[in-house]
Amino acid sequence: MPLISIDIKSGTLAQTENSTVKEVIVGIDLGTTNSLVAYINNQTQEAVALKDAGGSNKLVPSVIHFTPDGGILVGNEAKKMLIEQPQNTIYSVKRLMGKSYTDVQQYAGFFGYKIIDDDTESLVKIKVNNRFYTPIELSALILKALKQRAEQALQQTVTKAVITVPAYFNDAQRQATRDAGKLAGLDVLRIVNEPTAASLAYGIGLNPDDGRTIAVYDLGGGTFDISVLRIENGVFEVLSTNGDTFLGGDDFDRTIINYWLEMNGLTPDALHNNKSMGQQLRLLAEEAKMALSTAQNWQGMAGNLPCSLTRTQFETLIEPIVQRTITCCRQALADAKLTPAQIDEVVLVGGSTRVPMVKKAVEQFFNRRPHDELNPDEVVALGAAVQADILAGNNKDMLLLDVTPLSLGIETMGGLMDVIIARNTKIPAKAGRQYTTHVDGQSDMRISVYQGERDLVKDNRKLGEFSLKGIPAMPAGLPKVEIAFIIDADGILRVRAKELRSGVEQSIEVTPQYGLTEEEMAKMLLESIQHAEADRQVRALQEAINEAENLTATAEKFVTQNTAMLTPEEIDQTLLLVQDLRSVLQSGNKDLIHQRIETLNNFTRPFAERVMDVAIAKAMRGTKI
Ligand code: AMP
Repeated sequence: MPLISIDIKSGTLAQTENSTVKEVIVGIDLGTTNSLVAYINNQTQEAVALKDAGGSNKLVPSVIHFTPDGGILVGNEAKKMLIEQPQNTIYSVKRLMGKSYTDVQQYAGFFGYKIIDDDTESLVKIKVNNRFYTPIELSALILKALKQRAEQALQQTVTKAVITVPAYFNDAQRQATRDAGKLAGLDVLRIVNEPTAASLAYGIGLNPDDGRTIAVYDLGGGTFDISVLRIENGVFEVLSTNGDTFLGGDDFDRTIINYWLEMNGLTPDALHNNKSMGQQLRLLAEEAKMALSTAQNWQGMAGNLPCSLTRTQFETLIEPIVQRTITCCRQALADAKLTPAQIDEVVLVGGSTRVPMVKKAVEQFFNRRPHDELNPDEVVALGAAVQADILAGNNKDMLLLDVTPLSLGIETMGGLMDVIIARNTKIPAKAGRQYTTHVDGQSDMRISVYQGERDLVKDNRKLGEFSLKGIPAMPAGLPKVEIAFIIDADGILRVRAKELRSGVEQSIEVTPQYGLTEEEMAKMLLESIQHAEADRQVRALQEAINEAENLTATAEKFVTQNTAMLTPEEIDQTLLLVQDLRSVLQSGNKDLIHQRIETLNNFTRPFAERVMDVAIAKAMRGTKI
């Protein structure tokens, strides 16, 4: 609670902090290989990554080890167990977040631990010591370790955090990350895109009047991401993403090992039966690579194998790998419909961007010096801390927003997609629309939620489904069901359905079973463009059928309810025209359906008006109708 005091100099009331320490919101980079936690130092206003209790390491390896006696180790201690006890040591859990076995089966061999494959459609589980863990539980263990580190370093309880995720993470993966935070005892105030955080760390976008286009090049140990962002008026929009989920510094190490084996007249097979030699070479290759980021030569011994490397040799070895990243950059720019000259800033992220040749290749491609002033391992966490500080209200003018990558909507009659929140809408967002029933006395309404750009829901992706039950019996068309879509700042969708006359209400948080990959998302967008014309025709036909079905039902009902006020010819002819219209519903001919709708409407309009006039006259006399 702030204390109210009187400023004796000005004589006015002033608020002062009471003696309790101000709550800190931390920024967390939950990485595939390493994780970090950072905060903004109140005194210096600088973002700082927090070190371990020994005061040396900032990086926490994203590794968890389960000891035989039920203990759990996280970070460096766990990493040491990777070689000895791979089956009880979990790494790269981020690759499994929000994924089903079907999503990951093609690279299941990459993991040294057991991924359960008995229920392919639901989220993956990992088996360790006869217990099953979800990637969410495992990520929560890493987050807990980061929370503890922050509490120890800052000497206060930490309960609030901002966590970063790759820009291409879909709803399921973001939700999984948020749940992991919750499980670790953290209130996750915001999920932020990693490239957005990296830009923020450099202060790009912090001036609300500034519009910038930014390329964030992120080359880590095992993954490569390139993201093109646009920031305008405090709104970050991801224009495109590209990359390779199995490309990084580890590949540099592998080419070095193969080169050394070749120099010593050996083949990679030589390591199959000699695991310790393999491990030794891996460590030496990484050491050589890192040394060559500043030195020109490196020499060492792996057992009795002499190993040496010059920077020129190293650059020749890795040239094809670096070129693969540049190809991704080219594609990302093409997708964003931009040329390198239209990029205002380039930001380097990830330990492998320390390699001088990587920097040079990026600079050459974008024809611009990339930002490398900050530590590339820390830049995402530092940016997350900047975002956390904004949320803490310390930089009140800034409001950072994202946009939805794909449209969100519901299925309406005939399998049509009715978009409620369009693609590229700024989030948080809220939108709603009213619907009604098709059948008299209908008490349930099924609401199916989809994501995608196609006109028919069958071509889009289903996110979830629920039923609004207990609608009181009313004639078709009378209930007013309002469907509201609410997307929070993390891109998580909640759907609420409410029948407005009765107040019956139902809602769900849409947490899809398994998520979209970046490629799938791109494919969905591409397909929506390719099929635009065909989709429009299908939609127009389906809309005509829907209208015809509604009209025939209404006309029949009208005739039965108002027999007394109609002539026999009017009744017979109406029913005949209803039949005529029904007979062409399956014809696939939209114009013919429209024609018959018009004929039926034209025929019934005069006597429908007559019946209405009588009803109104009665009502005016106070007679109940
Ligand atoms: P990250 O996933 O961002 O933590 O990056 C880890 C990768 O960066 C690993 O492949 C490291 O070997 C590599 N790395 C770290 N420091 C250097 C350096 N000084 N020179 C070259 N590569 C480095």
